[in-house]
Amino acid sequence: MPKEPEQGQKAGTDGGPISDRLLAILVCPQCRGDLEYDRTAQKFTCPRCGLRYPIVNGVPNFLIEEAERIEGR
Ligand SMILES: [Zn+2]
Repeated sequence: MPKEPEQGQKAGTDGGPISDRLLAILVCPQCRGDLEYDRTAQKFTCPRCGLRYPIVNGVPNFLIEEAERIEGR
């Protein structure tokens, strides 16, 4: 019986957690650098650009013009 380890985890519409697999392929739309996932704040942070992208209903919003700017850099 072949197993299907990749199946069984469908993205919900209820704001489920961002998987490590998804995080691994996401990059900053501006600099294409790695993003840091803030699990508590539900935001992606790009330390290079100093931008924070919100996650709305489990879907990252990567519009640069709607991203927050981190102060101090
Ligand atoms: Zn960036």
